Amino acid sequence: MYFIVSGGYLGLMGSPIVWVGVHRLHHQKSDVDGDPHSPKDGFKHALYEWMFDMRSVQSDEEMRAQVPDLMADPLFRKLGDDHSPWQAQLCLGLCIVFRVIIWAVLGPIGLAANIFATATIFWSTQLVNAVCHLPNVGYRSHNTREQSRNVWFVGLLALGEGWHNNHHAVPKSARHGMAWYEVDVTWYAVWLLEKLGLAKAVIRPPKSLQRKAVESVESAFSFDTGAEHILVKQE
Ligand SMILES: [Zn+2]
Ligand SMILES: [Zn+2]
Repeated sequence: MYFIVSGGYLGLMGSPIVWVGVHRLHHQKSDVDGDPHSPKDGFKHALYEWMFDMRSVQSDEEMRAQVPDLMADPLFRKLGDDHSPWQAQLCLGLCIVFRVIIWAVLGPIGLAANIFATATIFWSTQLVNAVCHLPNVGYRSHNTREQSRNVWFVGLLALGEGWHNNHHAVPKSARHGMAWYEVDVTWYAVWLLEKLGLAKAVIRPPKSLQRKAVESVESAFSFDTGAEHILVKQE
């Protein structure tokens, strides 16, 4: 688990406890008051400004109460369990040290490739927050209570996270792309880990929702009506 979490941490995502605490709050308050990063509060706010003002929407105590599972891990606690600048600075410092090591071992091309990959993943994750909750971008396959959308280019860039309406419909599912053409690189990796015996108790979306996702996309393309109309038809 630490190996996989290190991918996010060394990609400038900050303390895992804080990251998960903020994300669980997003699911509880999606697109209503208290959502840490809804584009209803402005595109720039949802893209990155929210990171600098988290204490106004979530106290440190509330954040810690969101993640009793991760709080039980001493290493995660050492990486930061509050919204102080300290945990972000620690992450930044360790990310710089890691890149100095990459530069020493792999040289400037290795370092440039790593910085490019880091920037792509960092901003793709922010795009999920900002773009995949915008009305009129992408489509909706499920009538969830917030305004999340499936957006193909965020799906590709963020390795599956951009099928965000699917994710909000079944948040615990490891698979976000429900139709075969909803490319979900993260799911392919989890599937492979499961086959190798390295991932257990993997949660999949119910078959009924998978079928619904495929039907809604096919209908949207064949009638050119837009997903909102499809939802009206289904109700
Ligand atoms: Zn969301
Ligand atoms: Zn989520």
